[in-house]
Amino acid sequence: MIKLENIHKYYDKQHVLKGINLTVDKGEVVSILGPSGSGKSTLLRCINFLEQPTSGTVEISDKRVDAESASKADIISLRSSTGMVFQQYNLFKNFTVLQNVMVGLTSVKRINKVEAQKKSMEILERVGLTNRLSHYPAQLSGGQQQRVGIARALALNPEVLLFDEPTSSLDPELVDEVLATIKKVATEGNTMLIVTHELNFAREISDRIIFMEDGVIIEEGTAEQIFNHPKAERTKQFISRAI
Ligand code: ADP
Ligand code: MG
Repeated sequence: MIKLENIHKYYDKQHVLKGINLTVDKGEVVSILGPSGSGKSTLLRCINFLEQPTSGTVEISDKRVDAESASKADIISLRSSTGMVFQQYNLFKNFTVLQNVMVGLTSVKRINKVEAQKKSMEILERVGLTNRLSHYPAQLSGGQQQRVGIARALALNPEVLLFDEPTSSLDPELVDEVLATIKKVATEGNTMLIVTHELNFAREISDRIIFMEDGVIIEEGTAEQIFNHPKAERTKQFISRAI
């Protein structure tokens, strides 16, 4: 479903991604772990070209885009195959919960309002927010806001869901409700890439775990391999926090 080939990213002279190769199968849940500054967010953002890779190829489903020859149309098409959930929710503050979920359907997909509303309500039910449809983001807890963020990403039926530290902005007591929602989404057969610092969650939910440091994938394997038999010394040190 996702295939990254030799992705490099420079910010000016800083070499942030150093030749990332990664394949994610349909329905697979893959978590990306690694210290702060290792390039995890940049990698996610290069997949949907929120950041343009300096070189390399991104393939999602049947769309293949080479960073050095990408057209605007290629990028729009690739991006429409992905849904992204951000650390800071990124909701429209002057839109209600329902409007935040509907807007992608009416403006991007050009679905009529009645249909869009029906679909949005179904999705909001899946994330447990039917009792908050007319609330504005400021009237919600962080956990509820992030569940709107997840509903919004789901609304467009993307082939791939990308989560960038979806619980890092939340007060500790709100983390679990969001993790439970992501877990539910994972069991629904979605293809997901999740950057997270929640090691126990990653261990539970992931078909595969990737450990990144300094722009390179140091190690990858099943949760069992990474947590019980890490090969790299750096992986060992990093995951020792979880036990
Ligand atoms: P992580 O998500 O693993 O913490 P990032 O991908 O955010 O890492 O950042 C990797 C490196 O790239 C860091 O050194 C960061 O300062 C740098 N970086 C990230 N985004 C930008 C940007 N928009 N402009 C310049 N440098 C950036
Ligand atoms: Mg990050």
